[in-house]
Amino acid sequence: MWKMLAILAGIAGCGQSFVEFPVELGVDPSFTAEEHCLLAEAARRWEEAGPGLIEINLRPWDGEGAAVLRAPEGVDKASSSALGFCSADGIPIGPDARLAGGDIWLFTGRLERFSARESRDYATDFTIAAMHELGHHLGLPHTHGVMRGAPRGIAEAPCVNQSDLTWLCAIYGCSYVAPVCEPLTAC
Ligand SMILES: [Zn+2]
Repeated sequence: MWKMLAILAGIAGCGQSFVEFPVELGVDPSFTAEEHCLLAEAARRWEEAGPGLIEINLRPWDGEGAAVLRAPEGVDKASSSALGFCSADGIPIGPDARLAGGDIWLFTGRLERFSARESRDYATDFTIAAMHELGHHLGLPHTHGVMRGAPRGIAEAPCVNQSDLTWLCAIYGCSYVAPVCEPLTAC
């Protein structure tokens, strides 16, 4: 009897809050230390916008499970102007069967050229692109906020806002209010 209760308590994670959408992603070891830091920042912003709802654990990629990967320039799964994409091999979820899961690919070479040409900050653009693709991984379509599609997957503000969460809540059910958008913290 006690043994059974101990096992059940262990499974339930006694005393721990329940995360409705835990995500585990491997991270391509070829990303630079700064890019690893920016990926962690992108994950933190999703978690902060939906506390208790979203938890994104990043770990070194060992070839198993979904991952965040540096996209080769010539990969044919995205348009030639895309700065990143999320592969659609996940599980269909939600009222309109969006695809969740899949690998996230970031075109770092294109991002560098985009940031230079538009006189923008690479670190900010990398983080926004990562946040945008994390949103696709969570099952979100192009809507507003960081999931705004134009221009080419780069939203104006580096934050997850209420409109992003409204879509997530339409799928999962929640009532969180996203925090005010802040500048990115430096790596
Ligand atoms: Zn997109």
